Amino acid sequence: MNKNDSERIESILQSMGLKSTEKMESADVILLNTCSVRETAENRIFGYAETFLRLKEEKPHLVVGITGCMPGRDAKQAMKSRLHGVDLYFPTKDMVMLPQWLSELNPNLRPIDLHEDYLSVKPAHSNRFQAFVTIQTGCNHFCTYCVVPSARGLERNRSLKDILDEAKSLASSGCKEITLLGQIVNHWSASDPENFSVNNPYKENDFAKLLWEINQIDDIERIHFTAAHPLYMDDEVIDALTLPKQVNYIHLPVQSGSSDVLKRMNRRHNREFYLETIKKIRNKKPDIAIGTDIIVGFSGETEKDFEDTLSLYRACDFDISYNAQYSVRPGTPAAKAFKDDVTKQEKKRRWDALQELMEDVTARKNKVYDGGKLEIFVDQWNKEYCMGNSREMKLCRFKGDRSLVGTIQTVKITSPSTWILEGDVV
Ligand code: SF4
Repeated sequence: MNKNDSERIESILQSMGLKSTEKMESADVILLNTCSVRETAENRIFGYAETFLRLKEEKPHLVVGITGCMPGRDAKQAMKSRLHGVDLYFPTKDMVMLPQWLSELNPNLRPIDLHEDYLSVKPAHSNRFQAFVTIQTGCNHFCTYCVVPSARGLERNRSLKDILDEAKSLASSGCKEITLLGQIVNHWSASDPENFSVNNPYKENDFAKLLWEINQIDDIERIHFTAAHPLYMDDEVIDALTLPKQVNYIHLPVQSGSSDVLKRMNRRHNREFYLETIKKIRNKKPDIAIGTDIIVGFSGETEKDFEDTLSLYRACDFDISYNAQYSVRPGTPAAKAFKDDVTKQEKKRRWDALQELMEDVTARKNKVYDGGKLEIFVDQWNKEYCMGNSREMKLCRFKGDRSLVGTIQTVKITSPSTWILEGDVV
């Protein structure tokens, strides 16, 4: 989502007559789009502060701005006081003010008029063939470890018309793969349901209806979404996974395999509900690849809780997991209510054990593709090799020409390993 916001910021800056540059030293405007999800991400921003001061000494007209989640959750500007040399400090939603602020700070920059809603700013997509489409921002769930509700505010959904207009415009300019983005993407609802097609087969769930509408757009060949919440994987959304253009993958964060921990996390689902949801998904689409997010070492997580996470991992037979060691985020409900009582060493030990399990499971699962054919969306080329993801979101590599970038190729897998499947184009 931050990448997609950066694409919007880039488009605003381009409209003002600015061009991108590879080196900070040659920039007239530097904007950092920040992430607050972990402590290390914020620490990196503080690390930049000295560089900004040095650059501003050399170039007094340089404008430095910080946006994204860090200013979003720093209402009292406590963190800003540690960031000397910063001219602009604003949450994502205020990016529409950028033209006015920048032209006040540097009169050489052309002011432009923008709509009030930042989501209506057209992103400058860096890749012609693949694009993110934000359908929702913010979240009402208040998982106790999470900064998103304070950084991005409460859930706000884009209208169906806006989303379809953007998707159609992307398709007409050559985009083939769309990734729908939202904090709880499957909780999206339409403010303009009258714009759904009369023959849309789904009746209850707006997100399932949206997937069907995007499936009808000619030239879009693949549709992906992230991140879904288990609570809203109802029968219609599960059925929509079988629509022809959907990738054969779903990312469904679980965070822990222990119902006690899930309760303290305020995830609003327990272990049994999650397992049941995975079962329903696999009943509908047996060969689907499934990914998840897991936090180890959350407040009060016992050895037994962690064992529950390992056993849930085995039961779900995930294809991939993004594993994190819990770090307290100031201002979150967990920071106020619970003690961070799992030691750093223990978090690391649990993370290592989970990572090892993931690598074993992934290596075993990837062997299934040996000798089989996968459809690869080629998005990179490097020294004779094409790379891209299969519909299962498995990274694949094969020898091929640079001209294949942006196309979908059928590849016979000859050498599957944990992180990459190698093969030959058919
Ligand atoms: S669902 Fe929970 S983890 Fe996800 S964005 Fe909302 S509060 Fe954060």
